[in-house]
Amino acid sequence: FAVHLLAFHFAKLKEDQIKKVDRYLYHMRLSDDVLLDVMGRFRAEMVKGLGRDTNPTATVKMLPSLVRSLPDGSEKGDFLAVDLGGSQFRALEVKVFNDGKQSSQLESKFYPTPKEVIQGSGAELFSYVADCLSDFMESRNLKHKKLPLGFTFSFPCKQNKLEEGVLLSWTKHFKARGVQGTDVASSLRKALQKHKDIDVDVLAMVNDTVGTMMTCGYDDPRCEVGLIIGTGTNACYMEDMRHIDLVEGDEGRMCINTEWGAFGDDGALDDLRTEFDRELDLGSLNPGKQLFEKMISSLYLGELVRLILLKMTKEGLLFNGKVSAALLTKGKIEMKHVSAMEKYKEGLSNTKEILTELNLFPSEDDCIAVQHVCTIVSFRSANLCAAALAAILTRLRENKKLLRLRTTVGIDGGLYKTHPQGSAKGAAMVTAVAYRLAAQRKQ
Ligand code: BGC
Ligand code: MG
Repeated sequence: FAVHLLAFHFAKLKEDQIKKVDRYLYHMRLSDDVLLDVMGRFRAEMVKGLGRDTNPTATVKMLPSLVRSLPDGSEKGDFLAVDLGGSQFRALEVKVFNDGKQSSQLESKFYPTPKEVIQGSGAELFSYVADCLSDFMESRNLKHKKLPLGFTFSFPCKQNKLEEGVLLSWTKHFKARGVQGTDVASSLRKALQKHKDIDVDVLAMVNDTVGTMMTCGYDDPRCEVGLIIGTGTNACYMEDMRHIDLVEGDEGRMCINTEWGAFGDDGALDDLRTEFDRELDLGSLNPGKQLFEKMISSLYLGELVRLILLKMTKEGLLFNGKVSAALLTKGKIEMKHVSAMEKYKEGLSNTKEILTELNLFPSEDDCIAVQHVCTIVSFRSANLCAAALAAILTRLRENKKLLRLRTTVGIDGGLYKTHPQGSAKGAAMVTAVAYRLAAQRKQ
């Protein structure tokens, strides 16, 4: 009986902590009704971004990617790719072949992206990318070959051709000078020309969402959506040409890079954003921008948790009201900590360890409460993502005049899976498709 009483006692204590946090973060727990409403708002944003007259003032830019076909299985060749803008920068070689059945082989190498490089001058950034590619080709013994390259560049770009893209604005932790408003593919080409030892042809530039959709489409012809949940977040999907005012022609479909991270930049989500979201935004590299992304992606969730814990502590709700210098320091809690604290079995002991690292003196109750804060922040992220994705899927279903849609969504990103892989292979696939189409035209 005593044991039962004790267990009951602990369960009650735990419940109290959870209730306390639930009450405190009431505005972060979005009901189904609110999420349906968010879905409706995003659907309206998509229409606004696609329309000729409404596009200039739309925050969700709905950028035409110029990718019209998914891989059809007949692509072949040897391709290079570089992937810039995710948590890790890498160079790849993709061999696409078809012996009875289409298959591919991939080799890649990761390179660091130090802050001096991604927040320095644009010229330095691209010469660094070219240096890494040359190093990669050296290590793969490819220097003697002329190879086509696909460039995955995970930022909003205006594309008039597949092989060019003007950067609209930096997002996430990138901020190299003199790049916004310029053609990024041509900057890469220029940097590559300085390397007399390699001969590379930049054939295609794609957003990581598009790369992910293409990679998935390579194995599954039903794939028509690409989704990234990583350092940043975004999605693309195949839209009917007749709905894309910004591109001539009404036949067939084209992949649209929604750039949904900017959803809310015009105030459309202000009623849902909390004081923590506002504070996080003010301390970011791009205040007022990418407000939806700041509620979802891994670059920001740790900081959100930190701001919540700080305020709760100041109000005496955690750690006996004692704040530590570490808890006051921006960036001290990262996504990897949030994930560790949320782990199914070791979560609580991880939480204790992490909080102790931050020079806080957590009680058992504190750990339970902090763990629940993490859960709420992550759950909101997932819910918001789902609401916007549902809007895209509904649009696809209506475009096809179906009652039920059967489709596949290609997903990538560090937050979605701990080991990022895949989207750059898609850039190679885009290149392969372009290559095939060009060859067909010549025939
Ligand atoms: C960028 C998108 C990108 C996403 C995921 C966002 O910050 O604006 O272009 O697809 O991050 O990497
Ligand atoms: Mg059109």
